[in-house]
Amino acid sequence: MSKPALRVVLAQPRGFCAGVIRAVEIVERALEIYGAPVYVRHEVVHNKHVVNSLREKGARFVEQIEDIPFGATAVFSAHGVSKKVEEEAEVRGLHVLDATCPLVSRVHNETRRYARKGYGIILIGHADHPEVMGTMGQVPGKIQLVSDLDDVTALPANPEKLAYVTQTTLSVDDTREIIEALKARFPEILGPDLNDICYATQNRQTAVRLLAARSDVIFVIGADYSSNSNRLREIGEISGTRSYLIPDAGHLDPAWLDGVGTVGITAGASAPEELVNGLIDRLGELFDITVSDLDGIRETVVFNLPRELTAPSEAIA
Ligand code: SF4
Repeated sequence: MSKPALRVVLAQPRGFCAGVIRAVEIVERALEIYGAPVYVRHEVVHNKHVVNSLREKGARFVEQIEDIPFGATAVFSAHGVSKKVEEEAEVRGLHVLDATCPLVSRVHNETRRYARKGYGIILIGHADHPEVMGTMGQVPGKIQLVSDLDDVTALPANPEKLAYVTQTTLSVDDTREIIEALKARFPEILGPDLNDICYATQNRQTAVRLLAARSDVIFVIGADYSSNSNRLREIGEISGTRSYLIPDAGHLDPAWLDGVGTVGITAGASAPEELVNGLIDRLGELFDITVSDLDGIRETVVFNLPRELTAPSEAIA
């Protein structure tokens, strides 16, 4: 019996961003140059497939600096760390390679600059996300976290000068609303508008809106604890298309495809392309598929590796 036809449309861009590519490469190069084990504080990027593959090569993932032996080689994850974590690593004599995404570091720098100038600081972001904990920990005790419009309403009237920064992986639309509410309450507030939301997050959100207009159902490949992947699923839904966030093809429920003519696929910034290919292959087992790429932004951003990993002979000497 012939298989039913299904169109598969791929978002452009999708998947790995420059910060994730750099973070993964830092762990791989560290393993090559310094040998296993290399300790990584927190999942270097939020994807189990990536983490397991690095684990097989000799990376050891820990949540606390105290779980890393004195003097060991350690990598900070792409999400960034607090000043306290940096200090703990120094006390332990760790050889640190910092895989913090340069765009997260930029937010850290902004935050410290505002603090030095005496501003009260508001961080727009999600509680308990490691990036938010790292940014809050740049100037401990001086940042108020705002996650939604209710949090803006609940802020104390503040006569001080005030500034805001944002997490890099937020929904552009939600953040715009929160910034407008902040400006309405505190007209003098300073901040970056939407510029702290990174290029990769913004581009993938633009692409998923286009994808929603072309698809009956959307699959976002990504971890359920990945912030940018969750935002992609939400935007798919808000745009009127049923959207599922799945870690890989093994989590596809064929019932979701009943009566569907076109499937849209995208992937969060920490999801490798092999997982997208795995989903296409799975769809190909069930349907007679035709695959096409949506037109979209071609990203050219590349972040440099730390110097010691590009000049290994100097580093080892
Ligand atoms: Fe950097 Fe954005 Fe990628 Fe996060 S999603 S690692 S901030 S480029």
